[in-house]
Amino acid sequence: MQILEIAEEETEKNVAVAEVDNAVEATSPNLDDLDSEAGFFQLFIRPMLKPGHEGELCEWLKEMGLLQRTMKCNNSVGNEICNTSMHWAPARILDKYQWLCHKCNSKRSIRENTAFKQMKCSLATALRIILGWCKNIEMEEISEILLCTSIVIKFFQIHKKEFIFGGFNSLVIVDTFPILGYDEEINNSFQNNNNIQPILCIAEIKEIPTHFYFYPYNTINEAVIKIKEIVQPGTAIVINSKLYKDVFVNLRDCNKYSVIISTEELTQFDTPIAKTLNENLNTIWLPAKNICEEAQKYGNNMTSYLIEQMWLAKFGSTPSTAFEYLMHNFNDCWENQD
Ligand SMILES: [Zn+2]
Repeated sequence: MQILEIAEEETEKNVAVAEVDNAVEATSPNLDDLDSEAGFFQLFIRPMLKPGHEGELCEWLKEMGLLQRTMKCNNSVGNEICNTSMHWAPARILDKYQWLCHKCNSKRSIRENTAFKQMKCSLATALRIILGWCKNIEMEEISEILLCTSIVIKFFQIHKKEFIFGGFNSLVIVDTFPILGYDEEINNSFQNNNNIQPILCIAEIKEIPTHFYFYPYNTINEAVIKIKEIVQPGTAIVINSKLYKDVFVNLRDCNKYSVIISTEELTQFDTPIAKTLNENLNTIWLPAKNICEEAQKYGNNMTSYLIEQMWLAKFGSTPSTAFEYLMHNFNDCWENQD
């Protein structure tokens, strides 16, 4: 009777999982095509997602620390917990494997104590969803099973040093949305809209594509505090002329930066660097402007969205790179969640 109940429960679970898997297929019909590009995912992961390769997939997930390598039986026998080391055993369930106790015959899911426990889909689908996230595909219907955002936010909190800008001999430009760039027309549709959440934007002109730091703020003082936190001492800062007066005095007084100059003043310098920078300011800010515009749709989730974008810009030069990096940090960040 008990076995029958377990079997029924398992069948129900499988039906629910199949529904989620189908929903994933339906909401992201191109996911299959999208993982066709060369790279880590294509070479190593994709072959393991095919039916019949669940064992290899589980082994890899164990190696990555995403599945437990050992499991103790937590079944109560009389007044005592069994506590026997469990065996990895094939099973006729969705995951194809389970932990089995040879002493009391108790079973535990291979997802116990892992980030996958809260995901309702198969492990293969879970990895496809994570890749989809790395590719910045919108998958709203399955957002409740998307751990990626919370993992990345945790990463952002733990590794603050990865997201600092500038330093000696480097140049950082600072502006805010909605007045990005110095071209008045760049986003005039946003200029007079009171519902817009202003966002501080910091860009470092060191790498291509440019890395951005985004921070929604309410008072200019909040923005100044954030600039001081993110931009390292010794940096040369170029600030939009419109922000200049408010921000300049405050930043100058902290004596932390080598040069603080407005975009207006920059036009007066006829050096090749100043000229090039001036000509390219709008181009530099264009991706930031698009992200800030998109962020306005996110309401209370704006900060999460902006952190995702910063993370992807830094670690996702290709979706496959983002996937690999995310996988390597997944467990650390998941275990350290509040
Ligand atoms: Zn046991």
